[in-house]
Amino acid sequence: MLQEEAKAALEFVCYCARCGASLADPRNLVNLYSDTGRSICFWWCHACGAKGEAVEVDRVTAPHMAEE
Ligand SMILES: [Zn+2]
Repeated sequence: MLQEEAKAALEFVCYCARCGASLADPRNLVNLYSDTGRSICFWWCHACGAKGEAVEVDRVTAPHMAEE
């Protein structure tokens, strides 16, 4: 059974960045927390052991992303 926090975290990252396994599997770890106003999702994949963080970006500061 997923907790509300895990559901919110899965809005950030749904699949392992390395092996592509679904992080909705309850054996995985997904944890959403806030740091200086940003939402950060820590995730860990039980299938391959990869882990990482996904950070919510509400502003893109790169000035020349397109039209180069
Ligand atoms: Zn994986």
